[in-house]
Amino acid sequence: MRLPCAWLLALVSSASTPSPPSTPPSPPSTPPSSWRRVELHVHLDGALATETLLVIAQRRNLSLPLAGGGGHRVPRSAAEIADLLAATTPAWRRFDVVNDIVGGDAAAVRFAAEAFADRQRASEVRYTEVRYDPVRLQSSAYAPGDALTGDAVVAAVAAGLRARTDVVVHQILCAMRGSTAAACADVAALAARAAGRARGGVVGLDLAGDELRYDNAAYVSCFVDAGALGLRRTAHVGEGFGNLSSESSDMYSALATMGVDRVGHGYAAGQNGTLNATLVGLLRSRGVHLETCPNAALREEALQPGVFRSIAAFREAGLDIGLNTDDPATYFGNCSLASVEDIARDQLGFTDADITAAYDRACAAAFGECPPRS
Ligand SMILES: [Zn+2]
Repeated sequence: MRLPCAWLLALVSSASTPSPPSTPPSPPSTPPSSWRRVELHVHLDGALATETLLVIAQRRNLSLPLAGGGGHRVPRSAAEIADLLAATTPAWRRFDVVNDIVGGDAAAVRFAAEAFADRQRASEVRYTEVRYDPVRLQSSAYAPGDALTGDAVVAAVAAGLRARTDVVVHQILCAMRGSTAAACADVAALAARAAGRARGGVVGLDLAGDELRYDNAAYVSCFVDAGALGLRRTAHVGEGFGNLSSESSDMYSALATMGVDRVGHGYAAGQNGTLNATLVGLLRSRGVHLETCPNAALREEALQPGVFRSIAAFREAGLDIGLNTDDPATYFGNCSLASVEDIARDQLGFTDADITAAYDRACAAAFGECPPRS
């Protein structure tokens, strides 16, 4: 395949960034079975390096705003993109910058997925499920003429994940709080159409977004129906955004009504280290895995003191928990699974055996086929 000139120029200017494949991918191989890390909760648009965003922006000739005003131009360095992201507040709006750089263009989406798979390989992650909002990646405010269907977005992500044949990464599609029940149903239908256990395929549905403003009510039927479609389901609930009462209710409805197989975060079940007997009883009776994210919980202490200690309480109670980065990019959580392990070990009392057990439990709770550890 001959690469377009823009790709070549961008790659020359960013030697550390992974390059797109020049040949069709080889048949999948198996990552080293000695790699113990398994990650089930990480966002594609929360994990992209500024170097990756630079390659995509230059290749697409995207004119981005300059940090601090002063107009727009095609970025000349990763630092320029880092400055734009740093100047974008509140921090969650940085997701818009990332999605507007990547969205609407199949080659860009594929390249982002390849870069993500490279990141997981570099972190020695044996199995990953990466999640994203397929609606948000269909368009770009920086390139209003570009557009993809949801199916094209999913296909581009799959192509990127499959291009890296020595890592196992699957997709989870996120329905977003704040969108309508019909929009949730559309994402569920897309997930069902694209579902497949082959590497890179869609293996589940998630509910993400602003839990504080949008509770579960609008999405309960969508998730029940998604179960009838055969989809495995997880949801961001009980995350610790500042309203323990409503977040506990969300977690209850997710477990008791929506039928989730896993919970993203779920700190409401152990606020301040005190276990909520009702929620913990449901977690145990239904065998639900908690996708904990210690680095994110540490940052959420500012919003809801006590969320971080919940993870130690979960470990002490022997609950089914895993360890994840959530949004590891430098301009979000600025973390890695290695640094998450340090937090768990140094601040939450995890032993090395606890960390290994968390990864093994995540492997057992995977929606796709998690390769066994040696
Ligand atoms: Zn998350």
